Amino acid sequence: MNNSFYKQVTMQHEMRLKEGGDKADRAEELIADNKELAFQSEEKADRAEELIADNKELAFQSEEKADRAAELVIANKELAFQIGEKADRAVELISAIKELAFQSGEKADRAAELIIANKKIAFLSREKAAREAELIIANKELAFQREKAKQAEELIIANKKLAIANKEQGEFIVNISHELKTPLNVIFSIAQLFEIYCKSGSLGKNEDLFIKYIDSMKLNSYRLSKLINNIVDLSEIDAGFFKLNLANNDIVAVIEEIVMTVTTLNEFKGLNIIFDTDIDEKHIAFDTEKIERIVLNLISNAIKFSNDGSEIVVEVKDNNEFVEISVKDKGIGIEDEHLDMIFDRFKQVDKSLSRNTEGAGVGLSLAKTIVELHGGSIFAESEYGKGSKFTVRLPSGKVLQENMIYSNKIRNVNKNVRVELSDIYL
Ligand code: ADP
Repeated sequence: MNNSFYKQVTMQHEMRLKEGGDKADRAEELIADNKELAFQSEEKADRAEELIADNKELAFQSEEKADRAAELVIANKELAFQIGEKADRAVELISAIKELAFQSGEKADRAAELIIANKKIAFLSREKAAREAELIIANKELAFQREKAKQAEELIIANKKLAIANKEQGEFIVNISHELKTPLNVIFSIAQLFEIYCKSGSLGKNEDLFIKYIDSMKLNSYRLSKLINNIVDLSEIDAGFFKLNLANNDIVAVIEEIVMTVTTLNEFKGLNIIFDTDIDEKHIAFDTEKIERIVLNLISNAIKFSNDGSEIVVEVKDNNEFVEISVKDKGIGIEDEHLDMIFDRFKQVDKSLSRNTEGAGVGLSLAKTIVELHGGSIFAESEYGKGSKFTVRLPSGKVLQENMIYSNKIRNVNKNVRVELSDIYL
């Protein structure tokens, strides 16, 4: 458009040149104007370019704004959502606060009730404490009374025990005195007879009779020895002085020797006394003299309570941990209720019956104490009317040689047997 405008001006100017010379000046002015116009056109073109650039910038900024606006829309939506949420929470909070307020009210009521209840409890606690204090005093008084009653009861029991013990002791002394007196009387009577025969000068004429008297004196001396041995043992046990003289010895040989000595005497009711063992020898620690006396007491009882011509078996059995020595008879037997009792001191199953035999009722109780001091045991099995079996268990241990208080002193088994069996020479 600018070019065509330029051509038109030029043509008009040429026409004017043709029309006149004055017109040359005008032409120059026109050129200048044209130049000016051209310059302005360029300026305008530059401005137009700048405008285009500005427009582009504007368009770019518009896009940016549109993006921001879109973001803002999203942010607004988010905000709106959050506001909605908050509103919901606020509603919830309000109802929660209302609930809380309600509960607080309730709590306040309960607290008031509790205060009243606590006051009541405090009052009751004080009352209780007072009652408890009274009860403690009453209990103390009761305990004191009870203790007194208990002590009184214990005293009564102790007195009863003492009375029984005294009675038993008294009975024992009466019994022992009788046992001591009987052989003593026999010995004294024989001494008197000897005196009479001596004074009358008839001593030499009655030699056979005197030998019988001398045997009787010996037998009764043995009885006295046995009794005194038992009394000494019992007194030592009671006083706490009793001591075992332990030495390692062959228990089989000791028991066999006793049985052999008893059988060689062969004077008892035609009895068959048998020794049996499952071992040849067994060396264990025991007090030879005491065990010998215990076994002889068992044999003596077996003979006492056996019928003429019956059988007695003395057996030694090895049981590894202990040795068992048993004496079995086919005599009168012992009733069940008396089986444990016979090991009590001074106990004889039947006084009237036992009076037919001698004995103070101490043999088995002494045997029990001595066997237990060895670490062993003694027990009886019996069938009433059929016979009894007494078993002594001795532990298989040995003593160290240097610990032996007493080594085997020379024993007089023959005399010991006569002493221990003196009861049954009737
Ligand atoms: P005792 O010195 O009277 O014989 P023990 O203690 O040896 O005393 O015996 C106590 C009692 O046990 C005896 O009096 C007797 O009643 C009973 N007894 C002991 N051994 C036998 C036996 N083998 N058979 C029947 N009774 C027995």
